[in-house]
Amino acid sequence: MQRQHLLYKGKAKSVYETDDEDFLILHFRDDTSALDGKRIEQLARKGEVNNRFNAFIMQKLADAGIETHFEKQLSSDEILVKRMDMIPVECVVRNFAAGSLVRRLGLEEGQALTPPTFELFYKDDALGDPLVNESIAVTLNWATDAQLAKMQELSHQVNDVLKALFDASDLMLVDFKLEFGVFYDRIVLGDEFSPDGCRIWDKNTKKKLDKDRFRQSLGDVIEGYEEVAKRIGVPLN
Ligand code: UDP
Repeated sequence: MQRQHLLYKGKAKSVYETDDEDFLILHFRDDTSALDGKRIEQLARKGEVNNRFNAFIMQKLADAGIETHFEKQLSSDEILVKRMDMIPVECVVRNFAAGSLVRRLGLEEGQALTPPTFELFYKDDALGDPLVNESIAVTLNWATDAQLAKMQELSHQVNDVLKALFDASDLMLVDFKLEFGVFYDRIVLGDEFSPDGCRIWDKNTKKKLDKDRFRQSLGDVIEGYEEVAKRIGVPLN
């Protein structure tokens, strides 16, 4: 399958049409952004690392019976995916407090969250991806109640599968963000799962191995991603 014209250029990925209207090609770039796109840098190898990381995770989720848009890896930095109508909300699951939850509620970073929390954010950089709820999403026609219920159920299933996967390598899955779309009336997991959109800490040292290394200028950003990848068994070349 070949890339046709560029459909959309996101902050870290570009989306291309293919000659089949049901499929798109995602190209993972080295661009890394923070502050809703206000800070952008190139990090060598990030496109490849995230592409391989995402392909590995999407395959694990498919093996667990969770439908995803992932079809196949096309190259070191490209995958073929189902073309979906994306729902403009980000679904965030948290097992431990970090990031915006700590800022919003004054919690201590690392506080265990039992049961895990589920939040919705409206995808809009200009507005800073504001926190929303199901009522707003339904009234503004972003999704139906049934679709939102399915997204929440799938998000918790993803958490169950991935928490166990990271835990087996002595890693804590602190939180993560998912995006869903509609493919032939079904809610299907889309976007990507990579250290750009989740928080992963070493269980013993609590060392951050995700995009917080970039957000907080801790250095060795991609080295962190590669360490996680190696520990969970992602083939990096
Ligand atoms: N996240 C993301 N994209 C966003 C906002 C958040 O991928 O636009 C991820 C983030 O990496 C973290 C989780 O969602 O794993 C929860 O993020 P949080 O709400 O704490 O916001 P942040 O502190 O990243 O602003």
